[in-house]
Amino acid sequence: MVERNMLYDNHGRVINYLRLAVTDRCNLRCFYCMPENGIQYVEKSALLSYEEMIRLITVLAKLGIEKIRITGGEPFVRKGMMKFLATICQIPGIRAVHLTTNGTVTAPLIPDLKKIGIKSVNLSIDSLDQQRFFEITRRDVLPAVMETFHALLKHNITTKINSVVMNGKNTDDIIPMVQLTKDYPVGVRFIEEMPFNGSGADHGLSLWNHHKILEKIKTVYPDLEKIPDPDFSTSTNYKIPGHSGTVGIIAAYSRTFCGTCNRIRLTPTGLLKTCLYDSGVFNVKDFLRAGASDDEIRALFLNALGHRAKDGFEAEKNRRGGQFVSESMATIGG
Ligand code: SAM
Ligand code: SF4
Repeated sequence: MVERNMLYDNHGRVINYLRLAVTDRCNLRCFYCMPENGIQYVEKSALLSYEEMIRLITVLAKLGIEKIRITGGEPFVRKGMMKFLATICQIPGIRAVHLTTNGTVTAPLIPDLKKIGIKSVNLSIDSLDQQRFFEITRRDVLPAVMETFHALLKHNITTKINSVVMNGKNTDDIIPMVQLTKDYPVGVRFIEEMPFNGSGADHGLSLWNHHKILEKIKTVYPDLEKIPDPDFSTSTNYKIPGHSGTVGIIAAYSRTFCGTCNRIRLTPTGLLKTCLYDSGVFNVKDFLRAGASDDEIRALFLNALGHRAKDGFEAEKNRRGGQFVSESMATIGG
């Protein structure tokens, strides 16, 4: 049995969830995440190594982290990912390992993901139309992503679809995406676009907020029913009578869910973010590589959680260098 503590921040919120970005590399160039010619990737040596990530997870599990989401960048472009996933699924105290992937190279890996015990997968699909998918991601790979979608369902892995709603790009996809929930037992979640696109460009971020997305869905599905949201859910959830799946809306830009935020993030280089909108609290890799003990690492995390912003607006206001956000979501870990 792992000795288990409950971890709280300075606002009394329980912290039990780590989002770990394992790479900043990606094989897509999604419009809302990266410029067309990509981002400046960090040196490989600046990435946390697998050994460092395993050590950190072991320390954090003893502090109270029990759920991990592996994200990036695209997790599956990093070599050795399956072995790493199998290892972290076995770390005492870690009850659930989840993944977020673009699904481009994931289909053949699904049987093994099931075998090692991955709890659920969030698959990013912003359009079901091949041309629009290409325009958004700048790669013509929708068929490979759909292969992953069907493989996930075939292997009974709980699946959610993440779809970023972009003004002028894919709002015509909202209804077809909702229609997926008719026959498939998936949670389709519409995400408000955030300013993490690697350039700070504002694509009309506030135009398609959660209210507008909901209104659009109701034009075709006026009988959409509100269903209870799971604890710590970032999405507000709905169901259409007779449909197998559910629909969620994530007010990521409006930030309506900060009051129950239970998560911390580690970027691929080891920067701790206690809020998506902060500019990073400390870089744990520097301490690991300087020989810090587990107790010292623990103390660093506890101190950071004692000074956490109350919400994403406060975190944004306190950013070093001002409020301007120019990181790509791939360097943060979405
Ligand atoms: N590459 C994987 C993928 O796309 O699923 C994992 C990393 S990606 C950064 C994680 C999630 O962040 C994806 O669902 C993506 O759609 C979302 N995301 C990226 N940039 C975003 C932005 N500017 N606003 C809202 N969501 C964003
Ligand atoms: Fe890559 Fe995911 Fe960013 Fe798209 S959202 S560019 S798939 S990291």
